[in-house]
Amino acid sequence: MSDKQKHSFQAEVAQVLHLVTHSLYSHPEIFLRELISNASDACDKLRFEALHDGALLAGQPDLRVRIGFDQQARTLTVTDTGIGMSEQEAVENLGTIAKSGTRAFAARLSGDAKADAQLIGQFGVGFYAGFIVADRIVVESRRAGLPPQQGVRWSSAGAGEFEVEPLARPERGTSVTLHLREDALEFADGWRLRELVKKYSDHISLPIQMEGEKWEEGKQEGQPGKMTPTGEWETVNQATALWTRPKKDITGEQYTQFYEQLAHDWQPPLAWAHHRVEGGSEYTQLLYIPSHAPLDLWERERKGGGVKLYVRRVFITDDAEQLLPRYLRFVQGVIDSADLPLNVSRELLQESRDVKAIREGNTRRVLGLLEELAASPPAAEGESAKSEDQSGAELPQDKYAHFWREFGAVLKEGLGEDAGNRERLLKLARYASTRSSAPSVALADYKARMKPGQKAIYYITADTPAAAASSPQLEVFRQKDIEVLLMTDRVDEWALGFVREFEGTPLQSVAKGAVDLGDLQDEAEKKAAEQAAQSIQPVLEKLKEALKEQVQDVRATARLVDSPACLVVADAGISLQLARLLKQAGQSVPTTKPVLEINPAHPLVQKLEGNPRFDDLARILFDQALLAEGGLPDDPAAYVRRVNALLV
Ligand code: ADP
Repeated sequence: MSDKQKHSFQAEVAQVLHLVTHSLYSHPEIFLRELISNASDACDKLRFEALHDGALLAGQPDLRVRIGFDQQARTLTVTDTGIGMSEQEAVENLGTIAKSGTRAFAARLSGDAKADAQLIGQFGVGFYAGFIVADRIVVESRRAGLPPQQGVRWSSAGAGEFEVEPLARPERGTSVTLHLREDALEFADGWRLRELVKKYSDHISLPIQMEGEKWEEGKQEGQPGKMTPTGEWETVNQATALWTRPKKDITGEQYTQFYEQLAHDWQPPLAWAHHRVEGGSEYTQLLYIPSHAPLDLWERERKGGGVKLYVRRVFITDDAEQLLPRYLRFVQGVIDSADLPLNVSRELLQESRDVKAIREGNTRRVLGLLEELAASPPAAEGESAKSEDQSGAELPQDKYAHFWREFGAVLKEGLGEDAGNRERLLKLARYASTRSSAPSVALADYKARMKPGQKAIYYITADTPAAAASSPQLEVFRQKDIEVLLMTDRVDEWALGFVREFEGTPLQSVAKGAVDLGDLQDEAEKKAAEQAAQSIQPVLEKLKEALKEQVQDVRATARLVDSPACLVVADAGISLQLARLLKQAGQSVPTTKPVLEINPAHPLVQKLEGNPRFDDLARILFDQALLAEGGLPDDPAAYVRRVNALLV
């Protein structure tokens, strides 16, 4: 035909296709789940559009998926009566990848088949999974509402290009025909296909049908019998939405399978909650905590979250940001409301009290789930019964520690965003500390270990765990064996701006304000510190004068043991680390100068008095303090010159 058009795949698609054929051959069967999932989405979309325009369903009111195969022709076909695609949609949807996270995904590909297979599992291959088992895919489709002449045939061998041409297609919807590879002929088999449908798609609400088969004996003596089609279509899955079934009838395996198709994830979830909420707003919630972070978790343009909204079993949207606060955007699941009208609009979603109630209910439920995870002790080696029952075999031993590694930084955003749940979130938070390099210290644990006389929970923020741990501000705390929390997530400083205290104990940055060790210092120590401060008063005055451009004050401190000096910010100021981050992000930063604190007992400080090179030494002291806490001297070359002059 002359109106056949050739197109090239978008670069990212070509990459995905390459991976599909080179890394995914060990999981061939997932292609069916992906195709059924697309067919199901297509039917959901049509059902939703038909709420406004009933004519779209004309001639074919049934929404369903049929799977057929032809052993002779070596084909397998998945056909749906869903929304279908116009020619332009086929070109766009099947030739490009529009989802967020694509660039991050492409950038992280390593060329190592195993690592890449893992990565693509997280990303989700969707339609392209067909090329695991097929060397050619032909899609025939017609969009609901378009006339039969405006169908489209799309076809590709999965290399660099695809073709499209117009097609007359009487039926609405889409059929995807896979021309199976030599090594994938097992999928042109009724028994095998039924088994896979049961395994992956039993719980979706759409009927999935296959032609009935019956055993036919050989016509003559000695001729083998074979399965032959009966010509009748049978529904092979349960075709009731999983979340509508009673909890007690659903196995852990079924919850997991449902999750995997819902989230396009290959790894079982960490935990889930399934409840029917009544009284006030009425809805069913099925919420999952995934076991790993999606690639686009940090992208700003990322859509709402992973929770799909249904109204009385009818799919409405998967872009309802209102169903969960942003800091729970990693949660996946389904909400099915009994109260919302079917034709809910964006505006209505934003204003609805029912939606607000659902959001609050969801938030409480997820926090409850996390609290349960946090409270359940890690399963001991070999004792996997418990984790298997919730979510299958390959799960981490300590689920909460695992959760925290993947999503802790996101959850901490809630400390700032969700004042109403701040207490609960603080209890869920885990930090590294001078006692534990893993982020596993709960504030309650910290409190239980506080020294007699200690009045605050001490913490420090820094860019990296190493920088935090070696920060001079910690010296006296180490000497006195007082634990300090080490906070190295970008969100920490901001989040802690909203947190004054934890269960009555104030949180205190060791890099802000003058250190007040209170009862942690005994009388003799206090006296010695005062005397030391007195004795270097003249030096402090001279330093103030020499560094007046750089600092707002110079004072003696008891917080240093081994270092001569350190920088701190005034009580209300933002930390130097946050100021640096903001500057890097191109934001304007209020310029408050730091305070230089001096260790009176340090030999270098004692050498200052009457030194002819006083000004140079003062600058070195300041620049070193800056370096020690992760900053850079304004003029690094001048710093080097000064130090070298001393060395010589
Ligand atoms: P995803 O489903 O994650 O968006 P896919 O690669 O599986 O990615 O599919 C790309 C797009 O192609 C879908 O978003 C959808 O718009 C379209 N599509 C795929 N299969 C069908 C189908 N059976 N009916 C209608 N549209 C489809």
